[in-house]
Amino acid sequence: VRGARAIREVNRSLVLGELGRAGRISRSELARRLNLTKPTISAVIEELAGEGIVHEVGLTERATGRPARLLELNENSSAYLGIHLGEDEIAVGLGNAQALLTHTESVRMSPATPKRAFDAALGLVTELLRKERIPRSRVRAAGVSVPGLVERGSGRCILAPNLGWRNVEVEAELAARLGLPVTLANTTHAAALAEARHGICQDVRSFVWLYVGSGIGAGLVLDQRIETGALGFAGEVGHCAVEKEGEPCGCGRRGCLETVATTSALLRKAERAVRSHRASALKRDKKLSVQSIRAAAERGDELARELLANVGEYLGLGVSYLINILSPERVVVGGSGLATDPFVLEALRSNALRRAVRTDGLDIVSSTLGESAYLQGALLLAEARHMPHTRLVRDFGGLRPGS
Ligand SMILES: [Zn+2]
Repeated sequence: VRGARAIREVNRSLVLGELGRAGRISRSELARRLNLTKPTISAVIEELAGEGIVHEVGLTERATGRPARLLELNENSSAYLGIHLGEDEIAVGLGNAQALLTHTESVRMSPATPKRAFDAALGLVTELLRKERIPRSRVRAAGVSVPGLVERGSGRCILAPNLGWRNVEVEAELAARLGLPVTLANTTHAAALAEARHGICQDVRSFVWLYVGSGIGAGLVLDQRIETGALGFAGEVGHCAVEKEGEPCGCGRRGCLETVATTSALLRKAERAVRSHRASALKRDKKLSVQSIRAAAERGDELARELLANVGEYLGLGVSYLINILSPERVVVGGSGLATDPFVLEALRSNALRRAVRTDGLDIVSSTLGESAYLQGALLLAEARHMPHTRLVRDFGGLRPGS
């Protein structure tokens, strides 16, 4: 009996997962995609329809044969919460039954203590649910993204240098305070999930999502599955050494990629270069920023172009390691102003392709999701927590050690 019930549960979450991905779909198409029999699909659908989770929304248009009835998740049957605990802002997003981001609330705050960050997130959640008139009972789970190392299985953020956090029980604390199942992931892993479901990687099975901004990290999707590694820290390419000596890094080591290719690394180098007697428009710049350096580069300033290209070259070096080790179909670059700069991207692309051993058919492109990637990814974590057999996010779903 236990086995039969387990199989029913798996089929149910497979069907729910596919309905979430597909939007509108017929029973026979569900059967084909999931490789299940039509009677199995019909039994699951009947159960879900009885609970008000799925409803029929019309007929397929077919040139020949009988039109099939289309099914869809009832948008009001469940809701999910996404929470992003960022370096300078706390953001909360509301997702519908398909885990699509529908509304957001955020507040700007610089690195906060865990308690202040949780208080702010909870305040935003209350506000959002009240404004959108969503009863708490409709919310199934929450997903949380944090710019730090997240230990697999424990839901603990063991280190977030840019937040100043160490060993913070994010999952347990927020689960207790929200009264919901909560899944925590690194922001870059969350963004990779969003890119696979909603962004420019819907058509590939294996890709690398590289975050470039105040830090550097990679989300690795291999054969349509996010890979977090044995401990959960896969993709920390920002802490690979690229200089033998080099400057100290937030992780406690020296010469990491993060010491030469982040926003703050660029600004440090720019200040130094401006002080040495170089002719450059940046000399007149009272407050150097990524934006002002990018603007100068666009106007043809040699120094600004060199600085950006230098960041891109180092990033390309890091990306060449990832290409050689993982052989992805695509590399997506996302994050702040540096990730979309043409001078950074060009140098990144040419250095990565020159250094990697085989790059046939490989694209290196910018993400199109923008800032909402983290919240969209957090919603997918929540969905996976509620429906643990959602393929892409198996690592964050039900297959945890001990479950
Ligand atoms: Zn480091």
